[in-house]
Amino acid sequence: MTRDVFAVDLDRIEKLLPRYAMEGPRYTSYPTAPVWGDGYGPSDFRRDLSRDDAQPGDGLSIYVHVPFCRSLCHFCACNRVITRNEALPVQFLETIEREVDTVREAVGAPRPVTQVHWGGGTPTHLTPEQVTRLHAAVTARFPVAEGAEISIEVDPRVTTPEHVGALREAGFNRISMGVQDFEPRVQEAIHRIQPLDDTAALVDRCRQAGFESVNFDLIYGLPYQSEATFTRTLEKVIALRPDRLALYSYAHVTWVAKHQRGFERKDLPPPEVKIRIFLAALRRFLEAGYRFIGLDHFAEPDDELSRAFADRTLRRNFMGHTTQAGVDLIGLGPSAISELRGAYAQSHREIPVWQEAVESGQLATRRGHVLTPEDLERRWVIGRIMCHGEIRASEFEAAFGRPFADSYSAELASLEPAVDDGLAHVGDDGSLQVTPLGRLLVRNVAMQFDAYLPEQRREGRSMFSKTV
Ligand code: SF4
Repeated sequence: MTRDVFAVDLDRIEKLLPRYAMEGPRYTSYPTAPVWGDGYGPSDFRRDLSRDDAQPGDGLSIYVHVPFCRSLCHFCACNRVITRNEALPVQFLETIEREVDTVREAVGAPRPVTQVHWGGGTPTHLTPEQVTRLHAAVTARFPVAEGAEISIEVDPRVTTPEHVGALREAGFNRISMGVQDFEPRVQEAIHRIQPLDDTAALVDRCRQAGFESVNFDLIYGLPYQSEATFTRTLEKVIALRPDRLALYSYAHVTWVAKHQRGFERKDLPPPEVKIRIFLAALRRFLEAGYRFIGLDHFAEPDDELSRAFADRTLRRNFMGHTTQAGVDLIGLGPSAISELRGAYAQSHREIPVWQEAVESGQLATRRGHVLTPEDLERRWVIGRIMCHGEIRASEFEAAFGRPFADSYSAELASLEPAVDDGLAHVGDDGSLQVTPLGRLLVRNVAMQFDAYLPEQRREGRSMFSKTV
């Protein structure tokens, strides 16, 4: 019998969620960023870029971080600089062009780029001409393959018809819009006034221009949200019919984003209300015909993400869920992260420091991590759990030459409560299957296989957002 990979038992999950709400990584990498060290620098990254054992035909992903925004949204934990100084993007472009040259020279054999993603900050803080120039600079050094996925995150408040035209002209085919919530009171509290009409007009423009996919980012757990207010937002969202939806939990991470202290904690929905808001959204998206891809992503049934999840080709990296398998990721711009087969590297976060490093002809690496054989194995395991919702013991043994059940007996034993709660099944050979119910709490399942987490917990520092 085919399992219905998209079905979710909403009544049951409502009872379980409070018990599983705890701090935990989102596993866009393993090991997670707090494990990486400052001892990893530019010469290490240069070595890892050049000795990467990729074949010339293997694909490459490029991430470009554009760090500027016009005004500060009070929920934001991204690396961004709030500015209206027009000179800053001009300097930024000059520096990032130099960085592309330095990275290209370090990469060695040319490889086809199968995925490009721009994030930020607000990439459309750049003018349409600057967008065209930056894309040309990147793709001149890293030519894009036929059919590549070229995507960008935009803020509807600053994205003009001219931007849409320039993006399509350059070849961008996917667009992701920050929406968060349509309620005026919530928008006021988060310092992000974004009328529905502006977002709707941008969606129309993007569809007319021929973007293949439109994504909305929403956030639950923001100040003044309730089930009733968010339901109104959901109806407006569904009427606009984006192809993909990301529904993020508001991460109150004041140890990272100090301006979040501007919120009165009492204005945030209490945990039980937050859970009800999430469940209301989940229920409504499923009723509206979207598929639950996992963690916090939804997609139309015929969307590539839905297909990739169903046929087990979904992958996860710093750009979120992706359909691009076996591809190295190179990050450009301040704070950008690169993910190679055997290493992670992150650039300096502060623009002046990043600029100084690049202008001196260096790679701007601030920290990183070389994966040990155990890290590589656990990355494989956690990646399978997060993206496919299962570990097949035979696949593990084929990849690593050891039985899965013997290698991870303690981790599998620690899953017993989750198995009893119906979140996962464990077979005699250790094969693990996360149930549709468990996919909502997949981070909790993956956390059992994280070798660094116990020590991080002992340290008692807050490093991660809540799983719910
Ligand atoms: S526009 Fe985006 S990156 Fe900029 S402050 Fe708002 S949420 Fe953060």
